[in-house]
Amino acid sequence: MILAIANQKGGVGKTTTVVNLAAALAARRKTVLVVDLDPQANATSGLGVEPKEGVSLYGALMRIADVNDFIVGTAVDRVNLIPSEVNLAGVEIELARMDDHLGGVRKVLKPVVDSKVFDYILVDCPPSLGILMSNALAAADAVLVPMQCEYYAMEGLSVILKLVERMRATGANPGLRVEGIAMTMYSRTRLADEVVAQVRDHYGDAVYKTVVPRSVRAGEAPSYGIPLVAYAPSTPVAQAYFILANEFLARQKALAAADGKVDSIAPKSGAIA
Ligand code: ADP
Ligand code: MG
Repeated sequence: MILAIANQKGGVGKTTTVVNLAAALAARRKTVLVVDLDPQANATSGLGVEPKEGVSLYGALMRIADVNDFIVGTAVDRVNLIPSEVNLAGVEIELARMDDHLGGVRKVLKPVVDSKVFDYILVDCPPSLGILMSNALAAADAVLVPMQCEYYAMEGLSVILKLVERMRATGANPGLRVEGIAMTMYSRTRLADEVVAQVRDHYGDAVYKTVVPRSVRAGEAPSYGIPLVAYAPSTPVAQAYFILANEFLARQKALAAADGKVDSIAPKSGAIA
């Protein structure tokens, strides 16, 4: 399945969630492909791969080569990657020109999905409401939204959830589910506790029980080119991502048992619409 990790805000923990969730799933013996759709290439370097011109989904989208030719290994066993690079920014323009301007990423990933090599494909989205992110949402089975435990985060959340609803309503991706909302960078303050309580009150079970704490270790990790989960698995942030991966896998299992009949998790108060 394709899981888009998305939030139009930057700095909310998308990339950190992608690389650590990928590594945690790999530790559970799942085979994972990370697709870095952010031209800033943070997931690429965070997984120990140096961004290289011409090696990204750009090449596949422009039919320069087969998509499988762009899949590389990473610092983590069982985690593979389609890297990003600066050229990916140009893809926005190319995608906009296509007749099916929302379907480019889905089309290009189809052979990878069909090959069934990967249990999970995690797409790291850029921090904007642009065409790359819309393409990721059009291609995805579900979206995981990381959000910071801070005051204005709720507003940002409603924006992305509305976009998901629009993808469903317009038929761009009728089956798109909200996989879950992951609260990140939690520090023990009254404000953070209030935000967590408010988000839970509003979105109920859509919010993962696990809350990722704030830690300087998480901030250092990108410079080592290996996710915290892989090099410091006993740290609180790594532990949180292991538990998040377990929650994610449990939801997948429940969904499979319900034969896909479980609908997208709706907010308690209907706030998405
Ligand atoms: P995004 O991809 O949404 O822009 P990142 O995952 O890159 O967000 O995180 C933004 C910054 O915050 C990065 O410098 C990252 O290392 C740092 N960071 C992420 N998660 C944590 C955390 N739990 N504790 C402390 N710093 C974090
Ligand atoms: Mg990022």
